[in-house]
Amino acid sequence: GQQAGTPHAQARIDLAAIRANVSRLCDTAGSAEVMAVVKADAYGHGAVPVARAALAGGATWLGVAGMREALALRAAGVPGRLLAWLLTPGDDWSAAVSAGVELSAGAPWAVRAAVRAAQAVDRPALLHLEAETGLGRGGAAAGDWQTLVDSAASAEAAGYLRVVGVWSHLARADEPGHPSCARQLETFRHAAGIARRAGLAPDVLHLSNSAATLTLPEAHFDLVRPGLAVYGLSPVPDLAGPSELGLRPAMTLTARLASVKRVPAGQGVSYGHRYRTARETTLGLVPLGYADGVPRHASQAGPVLLAGRQHSVAGTVCMDQFVVDLGDASAAPGDEVVLFGPGDRGEPGAADWARAAHTISHEIVTRIGARVPRTYT
Ligand code: PLP
Repeated sequence: GQQAGTPHAQARIDLAAIRANVSRLCDTAGSAEVMAVVKADAYGHGAVPVARAALAGGATWLGVAGMREALALRAAGVPGRLLAWLLTPGDDWSAAVSAGVELSAGAPWAVRAAVRAAQAVDRPALLHLEAETGLGRGGAAAGDWQTLVDSAASAEAAGYLRVVGVWSHLARADEPGHPSCARQLETFRHAAGIARRAGLAPDVLHLSNSAATLTLPEAHFDLVRPGLAVYGLSPVPDLAGPSELGLRPAMTLTARLASVKRVPAGQGVSYGHRYRTARETTLGLVPLGYADGVPRHASQAGPVLLAGRQHSVAGTVCMDQFVVDLGDASAAPGDEVVLFGPGDRGEPGAADWARAAHTISHEIVTRIGARVPRTYT
């Protein structure tokens, strides 16, 4: 809701950038369809507005991890085919089947849960069988795949479900040319062949995340599942930035300085005094901390832009705030600093924070907390 005053920090989300990124991904995908991955509140960007923008940009599918995320999109009236892939027995399978949410099954218990739900709501479940091809995460491994396929085929013959997809996920697509990708492709093709020989006729085979969508066309199959690139961030940051990939970062995180003060040389800054001023300098206090998703691991390193110049986090990031050493820059309380954005004004990108915190851009944007209001343009 509307609150009085100017928020001390905000994440501006550029929905036109989301649309353009998805449209660019559709071009790259060619004849494959695009599933925009909008789990985790659309990587912190806001699931409902992003889902609508992604559909407007040409995505025909939306993908989420949990069933609750899928049901929330349906409850908000978001159209499009919708897949949830990280399920547990306690989920409300009937609600999902009744809402037309497509579900992943990587083991026979999930097929049984789908069948029970289909019987309860008198509507066939739409299933995507997950093959383990090398990530070592979910999905049926080679030795269990035939059993999974056979259980799905008999439930399909009985009319309780339709197997509409076979899918898997790549472990090292962000390292283009890595032989592990070729091995996973081969295992995936083999698994799809087994499904066909069991009488299944999935409409869509899908394997590609953002990195594979952008760098591995032979992994596109019928449908690609980009997440990070939808938000305009590079899945291969050491090889190419967003603009080289034709993408535009959609989130800009800004804050207003809460205090500005001149301090002498030798001033210890923040918990543990990990930073000490080398000379008389100006310290600015930014009202965002690790509770808001500013990584504590970016202490002493994370960059911010103030009036056209970048400065670094001084000392330890606290729960609600961190300090930047502004040198002799002139600054006043209320001045805007930019933590990251598309770079038009010389501000850092989410990838710079990821580098500073030894993590990936996915984590930087996804963790921006609920305390930071999102505004949409
Ligand atoms: N597909 C699955 C199954 C995922 O778990 C994810 C996210 O981790 C994606 C696709 C999208 O990955 P990325 O954001 O790297 O494009």
